[in-house]
Amino acid sequence: MPETMNKTFNDCGVIERYREFLPVTDATPVISLGEGSTPLIHSPKLSAITGGEVYVKYEGLNPTGSFKDRGMTMAISKAAEEGAHTVLCASTGNTSAAAAAYAARAGMKCAVLLPAGRIAGGKMVQAYIYGATVVAIRGNFDDALRLVRELGETGDFAIVNSINPYRIEGQKTAAFEIIEELGNAPDIHILPVGNAGNITAYWKGYKEFKELGRSHKLPKMLGVQAAGSAPLYHGAPMDNPETVATAIRIGRPASWDGAINAVSESGGCFEIVEDSEILAAQKWLASNEGIFVEPASAAPVAALFKCFNRSGKTTQCDSCPFRKVQPGAKVVLTVTGHGLKDPDTAKHAVTAPIETEATAAAVREALAKIG
Ligand SMILES: *Cc1c(COP(=O)(O)O)cnc(C)c1O
Repeated sequence: MPETMNKTFNDCGVIERYREFLPVTDATPVISLGEGSTPLIHSPKLSAITGGEVYVKYEGLNPTGSFKDRGMTMAISKAAEEGAHTVLCASTGNTSAAAAAYAARAGMKCAVLLPAGRIAGGKMVQAYIYGATVVAIRGNFDDALRLVRELGETGDFAIVNSINPYRIEGQKTAAFEIIEELGNAPDIHILPVGNAGNITAYWKGYKEFKELGRSHKLPKMLGVQAAGSAPLYHGAPMDNPETVATAIRIGRPASWDGAINAVSESGGCFEIVEDSEILAAQKWLASNEGIFVEPASAAPVAALFKCFNRSGKTTQCDSCPFRKVQPGAKVVLTVTGHGLKDPDTAKHAVTAPIETEATAAAVREALAKIG
């Protein structure tokens, strides 16, 4: 690839955009696919429900379809700097997609450990098409991560799970973008929590920009878990987490302390939502705002609905940050992954099409029936 072309391409990723706030030097080869700089979409309908101004940070528009790319550009760039040949990760699907893509670009081998039979179809395809070696283990994500930690000790692999601190560094750039776009931090930030790397990263990003005077406040952090997979909400690890939202089906979050810290320092809380609420919110967001997300990413929307009834009054617990939401307060929801990652789970929204003869008259007749 011509030198100039490579430079232009890399200039648009999060490392180049936020180089001065990241642990990189001139000696770090930047492995980028142009991640980050995702849209922050104002939602008039969610704003009306809450009485605040609600924005959706659409992380599904990253190169491999989830926010994991922000952390992976850092993890893979540092692995390349350190001369790694093979990267390894445990994944519920999106980390493996990102690791495989960035490793491919870096010319490294990538091995991924996935819970057998529990990976969304789109994510599985991504691992293979980017050329990763896929190992399906008979266990869940927590088992996979335990094995990765063990295998990492041999020094044969560079581990690119969020226990790798460079992942957190890359992911904090999402908070920087939000501050730059709004001119300040929001009042409340809501996001799904699985392994808890992302809530840790956002909180780090918000605090760093506040210290630098780039924002004048910190948001309250609201971490959302699925009811069947809610170790942080209950304050204890879980052995058999279950939820339709496979990206947050995690019983022993690696960044436990980071998540607790973000919620307690910010005066936020953890919330839980049922799978049925997640699927309803997924459908609502797609059909009302045109934003199609995977189930885990719909959890913050479900939490918002749980915290407000449709007339805009808070309905929830004493610690709910929404109790004190002032009119016009700014609320940001991170929707973490694209809906096309997991089309099977979205089949609840699919009905049989109306089949007609191939004539305009027949189509008009069919459409008349739907009014
Ligand atoms: C990884 C992931 C999450 C959970 O993020 P953590 O950092 O593990 O808490 C949520 N949604 C999607 C789509 C993900 O890929």
